[in-house]
Formats: sequence, structure tokens, C-alpha cells
Amino acid sequence: MEEKELKNLFEKNMALLSGHFKLSSGFHSDTYFQSALILQHPKEAARLAWALAKKIKEHNIIVDVVASPALGGVVIGHEVARAFDVRAIFLERIDEKMSLRRGFSVNKGEKILVVEDVITTGLSTREVINSLKLFDVEIVAIASLVDRSAEKIDFGIPKFSLLSLNIKNYKAQECPMCKKGNNIVVKPGSRK
Ligand SMILES: [Zn+2]
Repeated sequence: MEEKELKNLFEKNMALLSGHFKLSSGFHSDTYFQSALILQHPKEAARLAWALAKKIKEHNIIVDVVASPALGGVVIGHEVARAFDVRAIFLERIDEKMSLRRGFSVNKGEKILVVEDVITTGLSTREVINSLKLFDVEIVAIASLVDRSAEKIDFGIPKFSLLSLNIKNYKAQECPMCKKGNNIVVKPGSRK
């Protein structure tokens, strides 16, 4: 999929918004991506997942399991796993620690693809990787619909995204939109 087509699709579904946002991290930003608004449409979720899977398959990367952080990565992780015809598991934050629950398990040596909806700071991705590594698995790649870090975060593992955005986050006291007196219109959801 072309980046332009993707941007249009996200914007049409209000998943990608321009404005003046306060993130739950406290930072201010001029762009906001809410993956749930595009992934609520199963056909679009499947289409995006296939496009992401195709990129990864082109690099001959073998995947045994897709693992995602809950909640943001669950839907897209499930669809990417379908495209690879492998199982999809997710990790949940329990007592500040990303953990496998619900009887999910991984086997020693399994090749894991970590799938996120959006990478901003890379924090939850890193937590998923660190948690899974304890099981002696191989993390073969990281994939996300959107990379908000402009691909600046290096995990030392191949990383794929459909859309790379160079989004600036500002501390509240340094925010140029605040300085202009622009109202904050949205306080979006979970920290990523
Ligand atoms: Zn501001």
C-alpha cells in the first residue's frame, strides 16, 4: 500500500488527526493516531495486516508466533497472525510487568514476530521483547502499522511499519501551539 493511500484511509476514518493534543504521557503533539478507529473495520484490519505481513515475507523472515502488547496490539496482531497462518498471543501489564496470561505460552526456539499498532517511544515493544526473551525464544522482527518515531528507535531487530511519521512531541512548557494560544482539543487515550 502506498503511504499516501494509507494516510487518506486513516484520515477518512478519523484515526489520524491533526490538531493540538495532550498525550497521556503529558507531552503535547500536533498529530494523533488512534488505531482502534481504523481497526474497528475488520476488512480494513485484514487488509492492513496483509500489507504488513507482505513486507515481512519479502525479507524471507520465518514466523512461528505473533506476540502483541494488550490492548493496542491485539487486533492487528491477530490479523497479522492470520496472514502468516500462525498463532496470535498477547501480553498484559500485570503489576507493571508485561506478562503472558490466560494459559498462553511460547516454546524454546520459537520465532516470534512482535506486532504493535503504533510505536511511539518503543517502551511497550521493548517490554514485550524482554519478557519473551526469558523463554529462550528468537525475536525475528517487530512490526507496527504506524511508526511515530520516524524510525529513530533501534531495537537491534528488523523493524517494519506501513507508515512512518515524524511527529514531534513537546513538553507542555515548550509547546509552540500553547505559545500561540491554541486550545487543546483532545486528550487521547492510552500511553504508548
Ligand atoms: Zn500545547
